[in-house]
Amino acid sequence: MSTRTPLMAGNWKMNLDWKQGLALVEELGEALANVDLSDVEVAVLPPFVDLRTVQTAIDAGKLPIALGAQDVSAHESGAYTGEISGAMLTALNCTYAAVGHSERRQYHGEDEAITNAKVKAALEAGLTPILCVGEPLEERKAGKHVEYTLAQLEGGLEGLSAEQAAKVVVAYEPVWAIGTGEVATPEDAQEVCHEIRELLRVQHGDQVADAVRVLYGGSVKSANVADIMAKDDVDGALVGGASLKAEEFAKIAGFRAA
Ligand code: PEP
Repeated sequence: MSTRTPLMAGNWKMNLDWKQGLALVEELGEALANVDLSDVEVAVLPPFVDLRTVQTAIDAGKLPIALGAQDVSAHESGAYTGEISGAMLTALNCTYAAVGHSERRQYHGEDEAITNAKVKAALEAGLTPILCVGEPLEERKAGKHVEYTLAQLEGGLEGLSAEQAAKVVVAYEPVWAIGTGEVATPEDAQEVCHEIRELLRVQHGDQVADAVRVLYGGSVKSANVADIMAKDDVDGALVGGASLKAEEFAKIAGFRAA
């Protein structure tokens, strides 16, 4: 039986301005009041410009919601126009920062080196990186999904001590399942999440492997989350589209009641 607390993290992507973000987090707070959160953590990852407003609403309402960003700069501060540092995010009470999301990799050319630098910058700032890994459809069809995903994981975690690796959350997000409505089967999710944990075991030992939360992401909804969460090595979900609806995301957080 795992002692890892499941994490349900909602990635709002480039949706909702600050007013809409405020409305959603308040609605989510209300919806979560009916959910047993004794053994599940809920987080939202709004756009940068919504963070301050959402943080204020979470604090004011004492909402059971952790805050995270969708990205973080690899740099500490200075002449990096358009970038947001880890320290700026911790100053907003952010706990998490997603790193290496497939949309960052695809549309912004982020490779293993930059992803690795961002993981380290997040940790330096006291944030928990949510390192996203996962294969495109061609690799899945070629049966190379495990190999491909583990190479991304190794790249993302390169140079981390065991103590640092233990602080990372890994999200397995097969690219073909993100935003497509095509969810991986629970067995597919378990296969890769298990291999991720075993790589952590080989690299950093049992304590790290057993502590790190490995999430699944890709078209998670309230209708499919319970079956995925029933798998031993799946410790939560990174949720895109379904996190934009308060009731639906609250149901995902309450997956045990399904
Ligand atoms: C995501 O953005 O990380 C994601 C998994 O999106 P969706 O749930 O919409 O597939």
